[in-house]
Amino acid sequence: MSDRILNIENLKVSFDTYAGEVQAVRGVSFYVDRGETLAIVGESGCGKSVTVQTIMKLIPMPPGRLKEGLIEYCGRNIASFSDKKMESLRGKEMSMIFQDPMTSLNPTMRVGRQILEGLKKHNKVIKNEAEKQIIKILKDVGIPNPDKNMLRYPHMFSGGMRQRVMISIALACNPKILFADEPTTALDVTTQAQILELMNDLKEKLGTSIVLITHDLGIVARMADRVAVMYAGKIVETGSTNDIFYSPKHPYTVGLLKSLPKVDAAKHKPLEIIPGTPSSLIDPPQGCAFAPRCKYSMNICRRAEPPESKIKEGHFSSCWLLDDRAPKVEFIKEGI
Ligand code: SF4
Repeated sequence: MSDRILNIENLKVSFDTYAGEVQAVRGVSFYVDRGETLAIVGESGCGKSVTVQTIMKLIPMPPGRLKEGLIEYCGRNIASFSDKKMESLRGKEMSMIFQDPMTSLNPTMRVGRQILEGLKKHNKVIKNEAEKQIIKILKDVGIPNPDKNMLRYPHMFSGGMRQRVMISIALACNPKILFADEPTTALDVTTQAQILELMNDLKEKLGTSIVLITHDLGIVARMADRVAVMYAGKIVETGSTNDIFYSPKHPYTVGLLKSLPKVDAAKHKPLEIIPGTPSSLIDPPQGCAFAPRCKYSMNICRRAEPPESKIKEGHFSSCWLLDDRAPKVEFIKEGI
């Protein structure tokens, strides 16, 4: 059996608004293999969440519009699947954890019933067995006294415990792939570390692939096998976590790394920022969308889109600096 769980090619998604067509995703391609974690990073509004919500068919269409692209899940193109057909995949084969568990859980239902819904729909469990399974699932995600806690409502849990409940719902049917959209943003750092550890443990145990959406590079370093850096609806650089952290080739990736706080930084030295704001996706600029913010920008950058260059196996970047005729820039020497 092939190890490729997900293969996305040239995905383009737009939203029709009164202000015009918002080109949220503009030709994104990536893949995810069995048991690996791919992190998608980038600033808010770069199209990370729209990409995964389109894969899960969670974007209301209209106003959303899937303009083009292949969404291949375990060898099947699911882009044309009906809502009904997608329902049989969601929860069972692919699941999602959202940023804020309080707004994702049903406040009027006991957590045990919320886990049971997925089990009943996809695994056809009988009532006596269901209770045992729910207790086991809650125990696996580290919820104490699961027999009592399964009878409680979401508001009776802390933020971290609610996120554990969300994870237990997402993993109840042993999905092949889990999309985690900023799963720890709403949590304090200690709980954040516990949740990340839990996700890693479950990935090891169940062999689930994870697509992790985040803007936190600390989380990426800790969790990801590979990274895709998104800017203005496109992937501008992709590679192994080591490639991205130690040998970045796109000025935007370098900007993200430079803006990380450093333990050995001089006292009172302000954090570095990427100047400017992301381009409008209603009328994206010709050429490289990062050009207005890029200190290496050349004439060609504003005229033509940079092609994707292969740096080495698995490491790609779209930047005119990688053209043989461009001036040579060594980001590492500039001190990331
Ligand atoms: Fe900067 Fe040009 Fe590279 Fe875009 S293509 S990131 S503007 S150097």
